[in-house]
Amino acid sequence: MASRKDYYDILGVPRDASDEEIKKAYRRLAMKFHPDRNPDDPQAEARFKEAAEAYEVLRDPQKRAQYDRFGHEGLNGTGFQGFRSTEDIFSTFSDIFGEFFGFGTGSRGPRPQAGADLRYNLTLAFRDAAKGREVELQIPRNEQCGGCEGTGAAAGTQPETCRHCGGRGQVHQAQGFFRITVTCPACQGRGEIITAPCPKCHGRGIVRVTRELKVRIPAGVDNGSRLRLRGEGEPGVYKGPPGDLYVVVHVKDDDIFRRQGQHLVVSKEINFVDAALGARIEVPTLDDPVPMDIPKGTQSGHVFKISGLGLPHLGSAHRGDLLLEVQVKIPTSLTSKQEELLREFARLEEDRPMKRVKRFFSKAKDAVRG
Ligand SMILES: [Zn+2]
Ligand SMILES: [Zn+2]
Repeated sequence: MASRKDYYDILGVPRDASDEEIKKAYRRLAMKFHPDRNPDDPQAEARFKEAAEAYEVLRDPQKRAQYDRFGHEGLNGTGFQGFRSTEDIFSTFSDIFGEFFGFGTGSRGPRPQAGADLRYNLTLAFRDAAKGREVELQIPRNEQCGGCEGTGAAAGTQPETCRHCGGRGQVHQAQGFFRITVTCPACQGRGEIITAPCPKCHGRGIVRVTRELKVRIPAGVDNGSRLRLRGEGEPGVYKGPPGDLYVVVHVKDDDIFRRQGQHLVVSKEINFVDAALGARIEVPTLDDPVPMDIPKGTQSGHVFKISGLGLPHLGSAHRGDLLLEVQVKIPTSLTSKQEELLREFARLEEDRPMKRVKRFFSKAKDAVRG
């Protein structure tokens, strides 16, 4: 409970006040500090809530007895929790506020509702996701009607306060012993009646449009990433905030690159002679290919790392690495000359003085490439 002040003091009644006196005192304070009469006045709001809390306890014989005997502590366990909001107060004491019908809760109108979030599925080529790009999205969504600024009333006219509910959007109905509060059937809870509907939106206050949005896709987005565009969803209702737009990114596979965390993996075939002798090869990157020297004796499946040529970390200048995996290709058919040279190689392997092996390989290289 927010307040530790004495409840009788708050309402300004003696400790032996009758129920009727308590009710009268509360009504007087509720009217005096009513939010509609004291807009944007936090002190008045605090007094308004304080009075409601005091009334909530003192109008109930059981809670009042507990409070009289044990003070505020006595209310623990009675289920009394105070009020979360002024709306709470209006609905709890609708009998009291119903009586000041006319100036009362009416102008507050219905509660604001946030607009719905939207989802857009965006498919990107691997390189576009890796390097980032600007995309144009066509988003079908509702927007506030420009013809009536969202009021639904034709230009030059104003929606009228609903007479059935006094603009509150809710009415009380008797059901046997109970009084229940229901959405006003005349205005469907809007609190207003549109007498001359806006021709553009037919009184709905919103129109369906396809909005073009330019979105900067950051370099390095991964498959399944969600980009949130604040406030680009459906508009709110009754001055509620708009929802958000989520762009869900699907990244297509690439013929050359694979992703492994922030690393970019490339497989490249080299012929067995280049693997044995070493060679300068070209490595594809996200930009231009770069030359790389592979050492002699490179084994199939070996992975070379080229630092900093991988994918960027989102929102940082740091990049992963490019991992080049070499596959050594064994020729499936040989010319008779190539076969003859390989047989000579096999003989040399038996007692291998390195120099002769090398000479053999330069010959073999020309033959394979030839
Ligand atoms: Zn109404
Ligand atoms: Zn309109």
